[in-house]
Amino acid sequence: MKKNEPLIGAHKSIAGGVYKAFKEGEASGCRTMQIFTKNGSRWSGKPISDADAKKFKDEAERTGIWPVVSHDSYLINLASPKEELLKKSIAAFLDEMERCELLGLPYLIMHPGSHVGSGEEAGLQKVAESFNTLFDMASGFKVKALIETTAGQGTNLGYSFEHLRTIYDAVKQNDRLGYCYDTCHTFVAGYDITTKAAYEKTMSGFDSLLGIENLLCFHFNDAKKGLGSKVDRHEHIGEGTLGDAPFKFIMQDERFAAVPKILETPKEKDVDRDAMALEKLRGFAAG
Ligand code: ZN
Ligand code: MN
Ligand code: MN
Repeated sequence: MKKNEPLIGAHKSIAGGVYKAFKEGEASGCRTMQIFTKNGSRWSGKPISDADAKKFKDEAERTGIWPVVSHDSYLINLASPKEELLKKSIAAFLDEMERCELLGLPYLIMHPGSHVGSGEEAGLQKVAESFNTLFDMASGFKVKALIETTAGQGTNLGYSFEHLRTIYDAVKQNDRLGYCYDTCHTFVAGYDITTKAAYEKTMSGFDSLLGIENLLCFHFNDAKKGLGSKVDRHEHIGEGTLGDAPFKFIMQDERFAAVPKILETPKEKDVDRDAMALEKLRGFAAG
């Protein structure tokens, strides 16, 4: 991939070894990529061997796909009011951070979690406490934890910029935090970006509460359901309720030129939908 091309890519599978994701990324035309550093729906995975970590770095070098970012396991809930599950979540997140360090990944993207009945304020404080514990344990780690904007289904936290700010304010080493803006989640949570005016308003709201410079990654997903629906169902770019416009705004926004933009849209067996979407996005960047 040429260095001057837009920083876009997709979530890719690590089946067969972490380094295998690069071949897939390369085939789709990724310049950046997201992976799970272990099976995303399990608590633990086998450790990454030094040989695999070496192959991973060699593949990054060969393909030029960088940065590679990680997404944490869906089981982790750093907001859990249940002591047992919270302990398990903290241990699993620390393991995820260690995997990122081993591979040299700059960002670990995570969902803030669910309060499961304890209430939003208690949940947000619990997440912050978990980060305080984790950052103490992982002293000297370079990987940043990026809190993802969420759709707000059930008792999930993180569907408002205020939620993210509350967590930030309660974390001591909050220079180790950043944010991942998921275009589907944020839209169904109620933030419109479908017109230029709405886009500017949403982004300036983000800037005043969280600082636009802390928006370190985008998840590029169109949405199946509408503004404020809180339903987290991803659609192909331009084929959902967001349409093409918001992706054009972001692709052409100078502030986000160096921010990785990652597709999490459905895969299909016989066609490379990621390649098609990336081609479309390159067109949006060109104007
Ligand atoms: Zn996510
Ligand atoms: Mn996402
Ligand atoms: Mn989602």
